[in-house]
Amino acid sequence: MIGVTRYCVGCSFCRLVCPTGAIEVMGKAEINHELCIECKKCVSYCPLEALRVIE
Ligand code: SF4
Ligand code: SF4
Repeated sequence: MIGVTRYCVGCSFCRLVCPTGAIEVMGKAEINHELCIECKKCVSYCPLEALRVIE
């Protein structure tokens, strides 16, 4: 599962790269886990490393 940490500044890069539209940004990124396919693209694109893989 992908989690958003407190380092998120809401820049929306992750939302733009997500292939399934699983990310909404309202001040901070929010992951819709029903749409997320765990491709981890958002994790690698976040400039602040604010997204983490949570086991
Ligand atoms: S790319 Fe990173 S900092 Fe930007 S909205 Fe997504 S999680 Fe937040
Ligand atoms: S892991 Fe992939 S599908 Fe899931 S939120 Fe990130 S970019 Fe979207």
